[in-house]
Amino acid sequence: MARFIKRVSPWWLLIVGLCVASGVVWQAGRWTYAVELESLIKTGEERLTLYTGTLRGALSRYAYLPYVLARNGEVLALLESGRAADQVNLYLEDLNQEAGCQALYIMDATGTTRASSNWREPLSYVGKNYGFRPYFTAAKNNRQGRFFAIGVTTNQPGFFMSHPVYREERFLGAVVVKVDLDPLQADWREGGETILVSDANGVLFLSSRDDWKYRSLLPLTAEQQELIRTGRQYGSEPIELVPLQTGKSLGPDQRIVRTGKLNYLMLSRTIPSLDWTLYHLASLEPVQERTQAVATIGTILSLLLLALGMYARERRQKQLSRHKAREAEAIKTINLRLQDEIEEHCRTEHALRNTQAELVQHSKLAALGQMAAGIVHELNQPIAAIRTHAASGRLLLDRREEEKARESFTSVTRITDHMASITAQLKTFAYKTPRSSEPVDVQTCLLAALEMTEALLSEMVIVVKTQQPPEPVIIKGGGSRLEQVLVNLIRNSVDAMRDVERRALKITTTQNDEMVEITLCDSGSGIEEQNLAELFNPFFTTKEVGKGLGLGLSISYRIITDLGGTIRALNNPEGGASFVVRLPVIPATTTGEEQ
Ligand code: ADP
Repeated sequence: MARFIKRVSPWWLLIVGLCVASGVVWQAGRWTYAVELESLIKTGEERLTLYTGTLRGALSRYAYLPYVLARNGEVLALLESGRAADQVNLYLEDLNQEAGCQALYIMDATGTTRASSNWREPLSYVGKNYGFRPYFTAAKNNRQGRFFAIGVTTNQPGFFMSHPVYREERFLGAVVVKVDLDPLQADWREGGETILVSDANGVLFLSSRDDWKYRSLLPLTAEQQELIRTGRQYGSEPIELVPLQTGKSLGPDQRIVRTGKLNYLMLSRTIPSLDWTLYHLASLEPVQERTQAVATIGTILSLLLLALGMYARERRQKQLSRHKAREAEAIKTINLRLQDEIEEHCRTEHALRNTQAELVQHSKLAALGQMAAGIVHELNQPIAAIRTHAASGRLLLDRREEEKARESFTSVTRITDHMASITAQLKTFAYKTPRSSEPVDVQTCLLAALEMTEALLSEMVIVVKTQQPPEPVIIKGGGSRLEQVLVNLIRNSVDAMRDVERRALKITTTQNDEMVEITLCDSGSGIEEQNLAELFNPFFTTKEVGKGLGLGLSISYRIITDLGGTIRALNNPEGGASFVVRLPVIPATTTGEEQ
C-alpha cells in the first residue's frame, strides 16, 4: 500500500482524498440530519400528547354544565310555560361568571334563545334564533352537540356544547355552553409553538398563528363549503388554503411541509371523539443548521487532514530525494575511487606485464643459454673426435695405412650419426612429426626399449621387474615413438638411481576397455615438489651441464599427447618417482579387422 501511494501522482492522491473526504462529510451530514430529525419527532410527539391533553381538559371542564342545566327545574319551567326569563337570566349570568365560560344560554324547540348569561349586554343572545347551528340540530335529535364556530351575534369564536331538554318524549329545547378557547391559543403562542387544530373538513379553527386561522389544509369540496355556509361556522368570508406546501412524508402522521423559505416538521394526531386533528409544526432550521455545522466542521477537518497528509507525503518525498541525492553522491565518490583504483591497477598490471615480459625474455635467454651450453657440450666432443679422427685418417693415408684410415673414417661416420641423432631430437620442436596410424603392441615396444637400455641397466646393476597382461595391448601409432618415450623414461630412472643403494625399476602395464596405463616406478632420488610442475617444460633439467639437455620429458610429452594420451609424474610414498603414461587402445576386434 505504502509503495502504491509512493508511485501514484500527487494529483490523483488529492482527487481520491477529496472524493473520500466528500463521501465522509456527506455521510456525516446525513447521519446528523437523521439523528436530529428523530429527536425533533420525539419532542414533537411529546408536545402533541401534552397539547391534546390540555385541549381535552379545557373542553371537559365545562362539559357537565349543559347536562346539569337541562335538569334544572326553572329551566324546564321556562321552556314549558314560556314564563318570563328574568329569573333564569340572572341564574345563568351568575353561574357563567362562577364557571368562567364565555356564555350560557337556553334555546326553545325552535332554536330561539330564551335566556342567556349575556342578557344585559348589547349583543345579547336573547331573542336570537340559532336553529341553523349544528349543535342545535344535534340536540333536537336527542344528542349532545359539539361545535366550534364564530359567533353569529358577537363575532367571537368559541366552542359550543349543547344538551337536549326533553319532557316526556317532547323536545323542549337545548342548553348551550360556549367556551372561549382564545386563552388556550394564547398559551400556545406564548410557548413559541406552532399548534393547529382542524375540524373534520380540514379547516383550521384553532391556531397559534393568526394568519392561518379559518383556512383549510386541503381544498374543500362544494358540499363541505355548503355545510359550513349553512351552519355559519366561520363567518361569511370564503375559506382559503393555508400557504403550506406538503413535502416528503416520513410516516403516517409525520411529514415535511414548507411555507415561504422555511421547512417544518408537521406531526398530527386525531381526537376521535371530536373529529378534530391536532397539528404540531416544528421548524427544521435547527436541524439544518446542525447538519450544516457538522458538514462544515467535517469539511474543515477533512481538508486539514488532507493538507496534513499531502504535507507529510511531500516531506517524505523530499527526505527520500535528499537521501537518494546523498546516496548518489556517495556512489559517485565510490565510483571515482574505484576509477582511481582501476587506473592504479592498470598501471600496476602494465608494469607487471613489462616485468613479466622482461622475465620471460630473461628466462628464454637463460633457457637458450642453457640449451646452447648443452648443445655445445654434446656436439663439442664429437666434433673434437671427428677432427682427431680426420687428422689421424689423413696421416694414416699419408703413411699408406689404408686399413687403419678406413677405421678412422668409419668412426667419423659413427660420430656424425650420433650428432645427427642429437639434432633429430631438436627437430621435434621445430615441426610436428607425421602421425603413423600403424597399430603396435605396447609389450613389443617395452621389450625393444629394455633391449636398447640393457647395457646401461646391467652396468648400473638395476633389477627390472615387469608386470604385463597375458594378451597383447594394441595402440594406434608409431611403435618407434613409444619406444623413444620408454627409453627416455628408463634412462631418467637410471640417472635418478645413480646415487642410491637399492636400485629397482618396476614397469607395470594395465589395461581397461579403452586405455592402457604404463607405470615406471623407480627407487631413485624422487622429484623435488617445486619441480613437479616444470618437468615437462623444454630445457628443464636438474642435471649438470653436459649431462642433460632437458628435452627428454618435453619430447615425451609431445609424443604422448600426439598419440592421444597423457603423461604425468609423481613421487612414490616409499621413495623414488613414478611416471604414468596413459594411451587409448584399439579393441581386439577392430585390431583383427585392421590387420
Ligand atoms: P634431462 O634428462 O636431459 O635432464 P628430461 O627432460 O629427460 O631431461 O628430464 C628433466 C628432469 O626431470 C631431469 O633433469 C630430472 O631432474 C627429472 N627427472 C626425470 N626423470 C626422473 C626420475 N625418474 N627421477 C627423478 N627425477 C627425474
